[in-house]
Amino acid sequence: MSKLHAGKVITVCGPMDPARLGRVLMHEHLHSDMCEEDPANFGLPSAPRPTPENPYPLPFRTEEKPMSPKRLQYLLDDAVPLLQQAKTEHGMNAYCDVTMPPWRAWPDVYAKISRASGVQIILATGFYREIELGKYWAKTPDLQIWPFVRKASVEELADFCIREILEGIHGTEVHAGCLKLGTSLPSMTELEKKTFRAAARAWKQTGVHITTHCTWLGSETSQLTILDNEGVDLRRVVIGHVAGHLMNPGYRNTILSWMGRGANFMPTNLNVTRPEHWRPLIEAIHQVFEAGHGDKLLFGMDHGYCTETGVFERVQFMPQPPWMYMFQNVLPAFRALGLTAVEEQTILCDNPRRILPVQ
Ligand SMILES: [Zn+2]
Repeated sequence: MSKLHAGKVITVCGPMDPARLGRVLMHEHLHSDMCEEDPANFGLPSAPRPTPENPYPLPFRTEEKPMSPKRLQYLLDDAVPLLQQAKTEHGMNAYCDVTMPPWRAWPDVYAKISRASGVQIILATGFYREIELGKYWAKTPDLQIWPFVRKASVEELADFCIREILEGIHGTEVHAGCLKLGTSLPSMTELEKKTFRAAARAWKQTGVHITTHCTWLGSETSQLTILDNEGVDLRRVVIGHVAGHLMNPGYRNTILSWMGRGANFMPTNLNVTRPEHWRPLIEAIHQVFEAGHGDKLLFGMDHGYCTETGVFERVQFMPQPPWMYMFQNVLPAFRALGLTAVEEQTILCDNPRRILPVQ
């Protein structure tokens, strides 16, 4: 079956020729908000801070809603100049926004930010992991995962993703262009397995790539095994947050063997405050290239805007600023540690150009 937009990248402003992608950051978040926006705009940086006794004073989001003009203006003022700078000074013509529902912004926001900045955005659909009970905000079982995932069948979850990719999100012209999945621990929960089976079905119908949240050693194997069993071509899968996997010498053969089966791996959260910390990653990247798998590496920052602190603002767990930190800080530090121009070009340009188009 030939896919809608085969060979093109599905951006929030329509299908795009991959030749125009330039450098691509593959894991960012313009708007990752697990809380409702309140009428007084509590969740803006100027608003009162949550307290330790009450870190999440706002209700949790269970569905996406249009954004207030105030918050949109905040993003236009803060994010657009950074995106413009990343594009004009560093050739970042596109980035992949891997925020999944219901934490994403209303779809028109991505189109507005993309038009204002000239940077193309590939937006995810899909499902987040089941957070361990008691961790972060998941104080009660109902907060561990999006309620829709709990109640829907595999078919309903797959149909949801297929609609967002092929027809548009919330009845708008904005389409999702990739599938996001995640797991919490090396052994997947039943609800997480359901999301992976659903995404495999959506992948078959749409041909967009799958990108994952994978922080534990062993999670890559459970994720890739279930996707493989469901018939997904592992060349279409990007396993994310794997700097630690690659930097662990005892684990490198596991990664290389999955790469041998086609899977892609993406280090993220590259905080270079202590550059020497990353020497093992650069050595691992050299080894991956020497093993002939340099075409299976991608970079993401996991930067942007979220409510991790209970306030909607720039991500606080990474040094500032979003997008630009990669070009101003990470790449110079990595080059000083020995990352070659060819490796950088392959990871930031060539690999996204091959992975992002619909297949
Ligand atoms: Zn992320």
